[in-house]
Amino acid sequence: MSGAQPAIRDPRIALRPRPFHAEETPTDGGSANGNGGPARLPMIAGEVVDPAAVGAQVEDLGARELIAWAIERFHPELRFAVSFQKTSSVIIDLAHSIQPEASFFYLDTDLLFEETYATRDALVERYGLDLRRYAGISLEEQAEREGASLWRRHPDACCGIRKVEPMRAALSEAECWVSGIRRADSPTRAGAAKLGWDKRFGLWKLNPLADWTDEQIWNHLRENQVPYNPLHDQGYPSLGCTHCTVRPTDADARSGRWSGFAKNECGINE
Ligand code: SF4
Repeated sequence: MSGAQPAIRDPRIALRPRPFHAEETPTDGGSANGNGGPARLPMIAGEVVDPAAVGAQVEDLGARELIAWAIERFHPELRFAVSFQKTSSVIIDLAHSIQPEASFFYLDTDLLFEETYATRDALVERYGLDLRRYAGISLEEQAEREGASLWRRHPDACCGIRKVEPMRAALSEAECWVSGIRRADSPTRAGAAKLGWDKRFGLWKLNPLADWTDEQIWNHLRENQVPYNPLHDQGYPSLGCTHCTVRPTDADARSGRWSGFAKNECGINE
């Protein structure tokens, strides 16, 4: 389904036998790095800092300024997670204009929409991205190990295999990662800070579009002619895997994700 993947590195990971949703055990205010490494402390420029205080200092920065701030402090150990939804297109456009060598990655579940893969290719061609692909075990191996159609029976476990574990690999060497989540996405994201310490993965997390509205997103994409996922024009405000994404029937943009389950996050933005 993923088609040709020119110019995209594929550091296929070896999965380790560990619980999928085991919470890391914080020590001295830090946390294990999610990849089995030693606990980390929130540091900037070699000094341990209070994440809440640093977050408050940058909360009023705009998206471009915030990305520039993070690039200045963390590049090249800064990783931009992209899903090829509309927010990813904005973040790629902003980050690339500030640092053309910025490092992007995506989690390939092997179950993304064809339009999503096509958007990936369009963005790689437009920006010449340093884009890395991370993936878990094959669908065949998953079916052999966990049984058929795990997403229908236990989507948390499926997301653990296909998203959370590859995410741990993607962030194992990073100091900060960048997400496209917004407060307008859902009630569970309404309190998202622009910068915070991600205890689950043990590094800084930046949400530069946290306070952006849909209108701001679309204005940026149109004014800068940025490639974006055409499924947004077909009634899909939020996109994930083909098996777990439908068009929402209400105003909640994320109600089309894992429809029928009491689940609204895959485990990387919790
Ligand atoms: S979104 Fe669905 S198919 Fe994709 S990893 Fe999660 S449960 Fe599996």
